Formats: sequence, C-alpha cells, structure tokens
Amino acid sequence: MARNSRDLDEDDVRLRANPRGTRPRSKQRPAHEDASEGLVTTVDRGRYTVLVDGVEVNAMRARELGRRGIAVGDRVQVVGDRTGAVDALARIVRIAERETVLRRTADDADPLERVIVANADQLVIVCALADPEPSYGLIDRCLVAALTEGIEPVLCLTKADLAPADDVIAHYSALDVPAVVTQRGGSIEALRSLLPGHESVFVGHSGVGKSTLINQLVPSAERATGSVSAVGKGRHTSSSAIALPLPDGDGWVVDTPGVRSFGLAHVTADDLLWAFPDLEDGATQCPPGCEHQSAEAGCRLDDWVAEGHATPDRLAAFRRLLASHTTGDAR
Ligand code: ZN
Repeated sequence: MARNSRDLDEDDVRLRANPRGTRPRSKQRPAHEDASEGLVTTVDRGRYTVLVDGVEVNAMRARELGRRGIAVGDRVQVVGDRTGAVDALARIVRIAERETVLRRTADDADPLERVIVANADQLVIVCALADPEPSYGLIDRCLVAALTEGIEPVLCLTKADLAPADDVIAHYSALDVPAVVTQRGGSIEALRSLLPGHESVFVGHSGVGKSTLINQLVPSAERATGSVSAVGKGRHTSSSAIALPLPDGDGWVVDTPGVRSFGLAHVTADDLLWAFPDLEDGATQCPPGCEHQSAEAGCRLDDWVAEGHATPDRLAAFRRLLASHTTGDAR
C-alpha cells in the first residue's frame, strides 16, 4: 500500500512512528515482558556473560540492538534460556542507558574509542611505589579519563615496603584524590573500605600487584578469570575486562588487563576543564579555541588565579593533566 508524503495527515504520521502500523503499542510489549535484568560481566567476540539473579548466563545480542556496543558493566535485559546450562544461549534485547563510560584509544592519534567499562563510578588507579617505578604518565592519563567522565578516581599505591608514598601523594595533593597505600603482605582494609556500594574499575600496569589485590578482595576471582571457567562456558580472554561481584554482594570490582597504553584522543581541553569547576568560569575570558596551556599563548586562566578565584596549585595540576595527553606518548 504505497503512499507518498502529500497523502499523509497528522494521524498517519503518528501511526508511522509505530513500525507495525496498525498494532497498538501495548501489544508490542509482551514479546519481552518476561525479560530478566542482568549485568554484563565479560565480553568475548560477540558472546557475553550476563549475571542474572546469581546465574552466569551465556548470551548473544538480539538483532534488534543493531550495532550498539555492549560493554562489561552494562545493565541489560535478556530473554531466552537463562538456566546457565552449558549449551544455553540467551539474547540481550535491551541495554540500559549508561551512567558513565570509561574509554580509551590505543594511542593519541587513534580515533577508535574502546569502551573499557560502562557504569563504573570509581576508578582505582593501581601504581607501585617501586619495582616498577611509579608511572606518573599513566596516573595522569587515568585521572583525565576518570575526571572527564565524572568517575571518582582513587590512587592505590602498592609496595610501600619498598619505597615511601609521600612524593606521589604530594604530587597529586591539589587534586583531592583519595589515596590508599598498601604493602606486600600487609592489610588492604583501607582499600576494601572504599568499595562497598560502588562499581570500581581497577587499572594499572602489569607488575604493580593489581591481580593480587583483586584476588584478596574477591577470593573467587582467580577461578573466574581463568582461561576457561569451571563449567566450560564464558571463556574469558585476557584482552578484556571482567566484572566481579564483591563477596558481600554490595558492589562490584572490574578487573582490566594490564594496560600498556591509555590513549586520550577523544578528550579535549574543555572536557577536562569541566572537572575543574573553580577554573571553568575563568576560561570564559579566554580567546576562542584557547588550549589553556600558557598566558603567553593568550590563556586568561593565569589572570583568574591572580584575581584569587582559584589557587596556583589547581591551575598547575590542570595544565599538567592537560599536557599528559597533548604531549608525549600514551604510556
Ligand atoms: Zn585558556
């Protein structure tokens, strides 16, 4: 029944918004009314593990989702076989709107964004105080990624038995980032106390002790992150993240593979400025397109600080983070 546009009146237009035309909207719902809510815990080449009521369900995406990406941490609705049986396969039919997206690019010239995790509200940046030496570059980059997304960063400084934490803590004092310090064989209660009620994603170079921390926080993690899980499904590759429920059921930790680079091609100077409300108003005096790097380049933020609206430490910290992704490499 072909029609052309001049035959349409308002009622027709309203009907056309419904893809099945004559079917009332209420009749479309029953198809998924028995859907269950779950959380995506692993992603592996088009197969997803979704935790539904405590059961690990193997799922694929429903065709109706189109090309929308699904990431670890996504809250989804699934239909189909949710028994968790070895050969059972459910379908993900809906993805809830994400509250946050932690993303990176392979390097700073790479336009392709990779979503590391959805819906995290806390980023635990794990950094050794020695062996390997602290990587200020990686910390800065992780801070930028978190702050520009509204994710609360936490510094977790490990191996305090090898070197003191004072210098690293002082380096970030202007940013008010909470810091916890651990040593090998020591207590991790300070870290553990920050986690209940949060979805915390852990990032760090390999060798900093991140896996050790995760295994202490979630004793079942070692089994869950094995190359093939005990029931022979939900194979997890080391190239992607995995979400693990905290043992007391209140919150999640997301372990990420050892990060070699953390590209920030998608972040602009103004994105970062958003995380510095004390500086943001001052930037309204800057020339259009200001990169906020220096007064010599026309930036007015130095005047803003001189007028007493923000401290020099804050401006210095902002510019240092800004420089972390406009200079140097992504490591
Ligand atoms: Zn400026």
